[in-house]
Amino acid sequence: MKPVGPIPAGYETIDGELAIGGRRASELVAEAGRTPLFVYSRAHLDARVAALRAALPARVGVNFAVKANPHLAVIGHMAPLVDGFDIASAGELALCMAVGIDPRRISFAGPGKRDDELEAAIRAGVTLNCESEGEGARALAIGERLGVRPRIAIRVNPSFVMTGSGMKMGGGAKQFGIDADRVPALARHLIAAGAEWRGLHIFTGSQTLSADAIIEAQANVLALAAELTRAIGHACPKLNMGGGLGIPYFPGDTPVDLERVGAGLAERVADLPPELADTELCMELGRYLVGEAGVYLCRVIDRKESHGTTFLVTDGGLHHQLAASGNFGTVVRRNYPSAIATRYGAEPTEEVNIVGCLCTPLDRLADNAMMPRAEVGDLVAVFCAGAYGASASPSAFLGHGPAAEMLV
Ligand SMILES: *Cc1c(COP(=O)(O)O)cnc(C)c1O
Repeated sequence: MKPVGPIPAGYETIDGELAIGGRRASELVAEAGRTPLFVYSRAHLDARVAALRAALPARVGVNFAVKANPHLAVIGHMAPLVDGFDIASAGELALCMAVGIDPRRISFAGPGKRDDELEAAIRAGVTLNCESEGEGARALAIGERLGVRPRIAIRVNPSFVMTGSGMKMGGGAKQFGIDADRVPALARHLIAAGAEWRGLHIFTGSQTLSADAIIEAQANVLALAAELTRAIGHACPKLNMGGGLGIPYFPGDTPVDLERVGAGLAERVADLPPELADTELCMELGRYLVGEAGVYLCRVIDRKESHGTTFLVTDGGLHHQLAASGNFGTVVRRNYPSAIATRYGAEPTEEVNIVGCLCTPLDRLADNAMMPRAEVGDLVAVFCAGAYGASASPSAFLGHGPAAEMLV
């Protein structure tokens, strides 16, 4: 037997079924007209933002990193809730514009921005988080050609990383950002060439559950930003401090102690280095905002035995939920939180392997998991599906097509 991960708070049982936003899983599937289906919960999104606002000092804004969940209805729901939006492509820019987000609330990071993407962003008035000297030169040239002053911040590749981070995106040789020692010269050059200086972006890691690691990273980020601002010799209008707050996926994972993070940050903010006294501060969060708000529902298509093992074969799989299959940045495969949605709350009575419909042994959703007995037609729920699910899985693989998505 292998345990499944912890099911996030806020999901209930109605008539023996998993309910999301007060509605039974089978009812949601009927409304969508098909499985597999991603359901995102407005109530969860609202609650998460409210918890962050309550814990963080008022001075620190909250940005949504759109790549975690670019579903249009989700972006639209987040629009009035958060302060800013971090995008990583012109495609994400178009989604933000489609729901009417003011481009001045948007910043654009990403190591390979094409000229047409830079142009779209500069025209719209989006802040570019500049990732290299070459990109800075292209942005200046495009701004000149368009007769538009580009708004530019610099993404710094810091020399430190967030300890305990699931995915390291700073420290040492990296394709992200500009090595800290080269930032002052580039910033001065961009400012002298007429760019509107927007400040610094320092992202140190992702999927961290340790409040101490987050507090330490934030202290390092503030110190580095102050040092760079001193060397640049111009005020820093805005500092994007990164984020990195994770969510529990696996047995034994515990949620980030948000009160601790908020208290740690409040202490820092009350005692900012003088270089940052007037700087607007924000954190950028993806997974933490949307991850626990999503549930992936798929249907049991077949129930079969092989050498004494029971397999529940579903119409879902890694083409929608790559991370749950253990093939997206994990070394050892562990079970995501999952359940039989149509027998939610029933006693687990058998050990099963829940698999997807793809012709590859990689397509597993839960291994040796204890579940109530499920039959063909029952619905399986995989939780923590609100971030890096639908848009971060190979939905063209094997031709089953994308899952449906809905916000409730
Ligand atoms: C991916 C990314 C994020 C979001 O990371 P999460 O772990 O989802 O919070 C934030 N900022 C940058 C620069 C990113 O690349």
